[in-house]
Order: sequence, then structure tokens, then C-alpha cells
Amino acid sequence: MTATTHALIGTIIAAKIGNPALAIPIAIASHIAADAIPHWDTATNRKKKTFKKLFIHSLIDVILGFALSYLLIFLFFPQTNLAYTFSVILASQFFDWATAPYYFFKIKAFKWAYSFQKLFDNDLDLPWGLVIQVILLLSLVFAAVKFF
Ligand SMILES: [Zn+2]
Repeated sequence: MTATTHALIGTIIAAKIGNPALAIPIAIASHIAADAIPHWDTATNRKKKTFKKLFIHSLIDVILGFALSYLLIFLFFPQTNLAYTFSVILASQFFDWATAPYYFFKIKAFKWAYSFQKLFDNDLDLPWGLVIQVILLLSLVFAAVKFF
């Protein structure tokens, strides 16, 4: 999924689970669960994009993720520590950060992360590949605010 979706899932986990020994592994596992759902992200049409476009789109995605996460904390979970939220977000994006050095710069030491993600990553092009993520996020935010 997009870095933004992973970040927002991480934010909800941070807001609801105060114990890092629990939140960090759950955040890491959430990446696998989320990517198994058919989705679009900045790498979906890799072959149709230049390197520069791929890189800039991914960077925008990461920045947007942190901005919207901040907004989510501000609006719904203001009692949550920001540094803690940031750590759980990084955990929820962990496999993508671990993949990036290989994906962008072909650094072989990080190929394991790329190969691992190939096992569960499920592509679906626009618009549905993005619609699914919006519905998932709205449902999660709703559940987190209303029921937990
Ligand atoms: Zn991923």
C-alpha cells in the first residue's frame, strides 16, 4: 500500500496501544496484512515511470503520510506522544524502508526485503487500488474512535 496508508495504520496502532513491546510487532505485521490486500502504490506502474518520477512520487507519499498522521493525532488522539507515534509509523513502514535501498539504488544487501515483500504484495491499479485504501482507513479510524 502507499506509505501514507501504512503511516496512518501505524498512527492508529500507536494511539490505541501504549505498550511499544506490543505496538511495534503489531505495526510490522500490519504491513504484511495491508499489502496482501490488492492495492495501488507509487511503484504499481514502475515500468511506465521514469526513475525521477518514481522517486518524487514516493517522496511525496512519505511526506503526505507524516502530515496526515499528524492531522489524525491532532484531531482524534491528541493524548498520544508524537515521538512514540513516529516510531510506530516507521515500524509499520519497515519493510518498505528496508526495500528502498535495493529498489531505488540496487544495493544488493537489501534485496532480501524486496524478495520478501514479493511474497505477499498484491497489485491493483487505479482507481480501485486506491479506493480500497481509503475505505480501509476510514473504517479503521471510525472503529478506533468509536469502539476502542
Ligand atoms: Zn510494502
